[in-house]
Amino acid sequence: MTPVTLARSARFLHHLPRMNADSNRRTKIIFTLGPATESEEMLEKMFRAGAGIVRLNMAHAKHDWTRMVIRRIRAVSARIGRDVAVMMDIKGPEIRTGDLTVPLELKAGEIFDFTVKPGASNPAVEGGEEIRSVDVNYKDLVNDIKVGDTVLVDNGLLRLEVLAKDEARIRCRVLIPGELKSKRHINLPGVKVNLPSFTEKDRADTTVGLEEGIDFIALSFVREAKDIELLRAFLSEKKSRCRIIAKIEDQSAIDNLDSIVSACDALMVARGDLGIECPFEELPVIQRRAVRACLAQGRPVIVATHMLESMISQPVPTRAEITDVANAVYELADCVMLSGETTIGKYPLECVQMLDKIARRIEIEESAEARPPAVFTGERMKVLHSAVVLANELPRSKLLTFTRHGFMAQGLAMLRPVHSPIIAFTPSPEVFRQLRLLRGVAPVLMPLASEPDVTIENAIALLRREGRIVPGDKLIVATDIVSQDRLVDSVQLRTVR
Ligand code: PEP
Repeated sequence: MTPVTLARSARFLHHLPRMNADSNRRTKIIFTLGPATESEEMLEKMFRAGAGIVRLNMAHAKHDWTRMVIRRIRAVSARIGRDVAVMMDIKGPEIRTGDLTVPLELKAGEIFDFTVKPGASNPAVEGGEEIRSVDVNYKDLVNDIKVGDTVLVDNGLLRLEVLAKDEARIRCRVLIPGELKSKRHINLPGVKVNLPSFTEKDRADTTVGLEEGIDFIALSFVREAKDIELLRAFLSEKKSRCRIIAKIEDQSAIDNLDSIVSACDALMVARGDLGIECPFEELPVIQRRAVRACLAQGRPVIVATHMLESMISQPVPTRAEITDVANAVYELADCVMLSGETTIGKYPLECVQMLDKIARRIEIEESAEARPPAVFTGERMKVLHSAVVLANELPRSKLLTFTRHGFMAQGLAMLRPVHSPIIAFTPSPEVFRQLRLLRGVAPVLMPLASEPDVTIENAIALLRREGRIVPGDKLIVATDIVSQDRLVDSVQLRTVR
């Protein structure tokens, strides 16, 4: 089919009736759990509104709370018959300021010390002036940082420049003044920090998560592929099949983007820290590059942070936020993610409804022309590609696949069918939940029969019972079939009678 005919058929599809439920929205929604959403009542509303993955931000979570909310999520899911996935977002190598008895008001031009040795925080004096200071939780900071570097505190609200250092302290000048409170996050743009990527706290948090059966683990501040391998080794020691999401948050991650994408199971464009660590005007460029790198290698990708930030306090988003969400959908990201909007925001449910509405509208605009070039390595991917080409040419088509580990569904999802949902049948509840991450995939839990043909018939009967297919629908089934006692990859076209 020529690009022109493809575009025309895509246009025709705009007028097709859309299926109910979120199975028909291709872009997936993740929300972060917090006081605004942790009650059973709110969880139910958020799930019913179409959120498919709950994120637990371990920077702020205690273990008792973590266990309690995971069990609550599972209970609510079971009660309403909508099994959502749980993502544990571990803190990674984070540098923070220590405790202060009272917040300090830092003034422009003030000389200020970050101290790394106990006792060094006793007031230092320069030219008869007392120099104020705060402790930092990372002793080797003095070795990693150099004179002239920038220190950003509290999400970049305070900016300081390094003037001098010794083994106990880093002396800075305040460039952007403001209030310094206890335990504030420190960013060091361009500094290669030698902290371990998977810390003791991460290990303890992950252990709790695995005991409670989490589905994804998001590793913060991934700087190179090796960071992911360390976590993977830990997971395989624990015999866990939890999937790893690499959060890219600084310049080193951007420098190593392709190898990180290749090593991870999914990527998160963590725009909060990225926007501090990298020049802010680079952020859209980085996001686009990261999404494309994931599409090329067939890894799911999440666009995160500040998507509907103003809805923390307002019931409607800004025009710019609407366009930002739309942009992620146009870029063909798998998921969009909410953070503060659903942890402390006043309108968490409205945020999910807003993402749902924007995503559905923008997805109608998709066309086959804008498809990114996926890299095909194996023959099986070529077979899946032919299934997607067929689906794109047939109005009212649905792709069906059967998957024990999720790979068939992931292979179809990476090819970004223009309008056909990918209905993925799996016998595994764990895989079912993990499929919630993939763009365009509607997972269905169903035992697979030993005969592939019986499995296909069972799947069609189930879809018919649930009213998800109607006579005349085209089903493109990408699966193994038995032929002369051998399993062969196949693509079948069936019309629902
Ligand atoms: C981010 O920085 O955008 C992010 C998602 O990470 P965190 O919320 O853990 O800072």
